Amino acid sequence: MNLKNGLSAIFIFVTLNQSFSFASSSNYQAIHANLLISGDLVINKPLVITKNSEIIWVGEEKKAPVLHKNTKHHFLDNSTILPGLIDTHAHLLSEWKTSAGDIWENLYINSTQSEERGLEIGKSLSKEMIYSGFTTARVLGNSGNNVDLRLRKLIDTNQVDGPRLIAAGKALCPPGGQFPRITDEYSAVIKNDYYEVNSPENAKQAVLELVASGVDVIKIIVDNKIENEASPRVLSLDTIKMIVSTARENNLKVAAHAEYEIGMRVAIEGGVDSIEHANDYNESMIPLLLEKKTYLVPTYSTGEFYAARNGKPEKIPEYNEFVAKEMRMFNKALKAGVNVVLGSDAMYSLKSGDRGDNSALMFQAAALGGIDPLDIIKMGTIHAAKLLGLPNVGSINVGNIADIIAVDGNPIEDIKVLSKVSFVMKEGRVIKSSKSK
Ligand SMILES: [Zn+2]
Repeated sequence: MNLKNGLSAIFIFVTLNQSFSFASSSNYQAIHANLLISGDLVINKPLVITKNSEIIWVGEEKKAPVLHKNTKHHFLDNSTILPGLIDTHAHLLSEWKTSAGDIWENLYINSTQSEERGLEIGKSLSKEMIYSGFTTARVLGNSGNNVDLRLRKLIDTNQVDGPRLIAAGKALCPPGGQFPRITDEYSAVIKNDYYEVNSPENAKQAVLELVASGVDVIKIIVDNKIENEASPRVLSLDTIKMIVSTARENNLKVAAHAEYEIGMRVAIEGGVDSIEHANDYNESMIPLLLEKKTYLVPTYSTGEFYAARNGKPEKIPEYNEFVAKEMRMFNKALKAGVNVVLGSDAMYSLKSGDRGDNSALMFQAAALGGIDPLDIIKMGTIHAAKLLGLPNVGSINVGNIADIIAVDGNPIEDIKVLSKVSFVMKEGRVIKSSKSK
């Protein structure tokens, strides 16, 4: 979706119709709460006023202007209101099950399902995401043959409740695909979900095909290593540079899956906007990250999630310690001025929670590394919006799109309350509420 174009279309529509006195049909809403947190702004007893899809006033309730007589009120008195949450690394057309076998079996099942089946999964996961407060999600691949673009259209036209999607369509990957076992038997995985590229020329062609399909972002797999390979296969610097320049010419950003240091370095050097996963990140990369202003998108969940996925409850402390160690490094990067945001990379549906619940665990994972709750909220809202190129979402400011959620309790005191979303407004439309009048 191109948000900027969408807004200008609305503006033209309103301008043309001003003489018809549309003001009386405006939809005014007032959200009252205990606390508001948005970027660096923290307000006790706040009030937010929206008109149609826009935020028109934010401040302390006691300083509020006279409200329009037809205002609809939402009294969220024990709640904290926040900008809608953003998952910068989602896979909403993929629903893996531990019962279906290992990761490769799931990938194969996922890549060979019908487009209609994929779309059904997408519709149901989108609802789970928005009910958990995610009003924006960047879908980075494993979406079949660009089925994410069909899902985006259903959401944009309010036929399905779901987050605003920033959709990548198919991903570009080195020859041989992203995953092990992509032998003849598994070749359908590459065919349906990826473009194999081995030169700047065919990479450019793949990007242009994606642009023509209407994607919002380009996803590339920079490195991949099969279990027995000595070193990862990595896209060349020339190829990455061509992908980035072609994307830029078409106003698109580039998200790069890179797990290994060699892949991360070539991707950053090549000018990508974000490094997804960044498993082998270490402090020696900070100067390059700062120079290139590249975002890091760690994609960790909690020990409880990994234990449930792997069926090993006894390993929760061990998994948590691993996540804590990783997130401590990203906290240091954040403090050094590196852009770090959060992505769930959630693929599995577990009994312990739906996709929205599972995605929200990324906030608890960040807290394990000692990241300040206010920073975690920014990583999941305003900073994420910046990476996605969405200046009008991610914060509760006058003139912004009214993407507002409420959680029960105070996330500064307990980050887990980000998993207790009681109210969701997207573009001024209330999608979830239990306390409105
Ligand atoms: Zn992913």
